[in-house]
Amino acid sequence: MKRLICCLLLLVWLDSTAVKGQVVDTDQPYSYEMLKDDIIKLHQTYKNEIEVKKIGTSHFGRGIYAVKLGSGSRNIVIIGTHHGREWMTSMLVMKKLEMYADAYHKREDVGGIPTDILNDVSIWFIPMLNPDGVTIQQHDVHLFPEKHQKRLVRMNNGSRHFERWKANGLGVDLNRQYPAGWKDLKRKPNRPSYKFYKGKKPVQAAEVKALIEFIRKINPEIAAAYHSAGQEIFWSYYNGKNTKRDKKIAVKISNLTGYKLAKPPKQATGGGFTDWFITEFHRPALTIEISPLVGEKSPPLSVFAEEWNRNQFVGLTLANEAKNLSHN
Ligand SMILES: [Zn+2]
Repeated sequence: MKRLICCLLLLVWLDSTAVKGQVVDTDQPYSYEMLKDDIIKLHQTYKNEIEVKKIGTSHFGRGIYAVKLGSGSRNIVIIGTHHGREWMTSMLVMKKLEMYADAYHKREDVGGIPTDILNDVSIWFIPMLNPDGVTIQQHDVHLFPEKHQKRLVRMNNGSRHFERWKANGLGVDLNRQYPAGWKDLKRKPNRPSYKFYKGKKPVQAAEVKALIEFIRKINPEIAAAYHSAGQEIFWSYYNGKNTKRDKKIAVKISNLTGYKLAKPPKQATGGGFTDWFITEFHRPALTIEISPLVGEKSPPLSVFAEEWNRNQFVGLTLANEAKNLSHN
């Protein structure tokens, strides 16, 4: 009898933590291990709402996960952490997934948007594209082969302090790897580095290869990639053909977040995920930089609450926009 009561209490507790939306912990740096645990927990809690897919593995064998929320045949995609030190964007994307899944389960609105929009337009969340980079940045270099640890220090200009790490595990900058304007990107640095190395050729990194293949499969209406920092939204690329349409969506997200809109540059640098998405799909794509500028490190946890407030409705707002886009 005692055991039964214990069991019941545990069930009630498990249920209430899920209901309150307490799976994703935002009080400590978000690691790859936490991500994996949270995905399992959310999947268990919202079996009918969520689908989990491993879309590939990083160079050093860590999983790259995509989580689908909703039953809509059309979809949008939201991506976090191209860059190691930007793990706060994984936290943000996961918290969004948790809040939306809970509301969808209860058929509630989120920020005035009915979640039954997810029956028309699903959201694919790819919370952490660069798990190796995150692991290095969080000083878990001992998890890499010994020989490679020395290389990592060399790529980090001889320093064992990895807080500034942006690249993947091989010292390639994942947001300089996409086949859109890649050739025009600077060659400096011309070897693997903690940041900015564009690689020997586009789509050389396993992580980028996995993402591109997956995006081509799901064919999203809109794509958003979260980065840090700067509280700014980039939304255009020089050969984009639908500037007016795309700007309208960018303005909406700018109003929602209070982030400034970047002016379309005269000479776009290219090589980034959204540059490629706009080039290949001719559909809206946003690069959203959270947090005030902080220099070469992760934004401090103290900024998360405000960044969350600014961004919590972005996913469903984009799903709503996607519903109104005409197919092209
Ligand atoms: Zn970034």
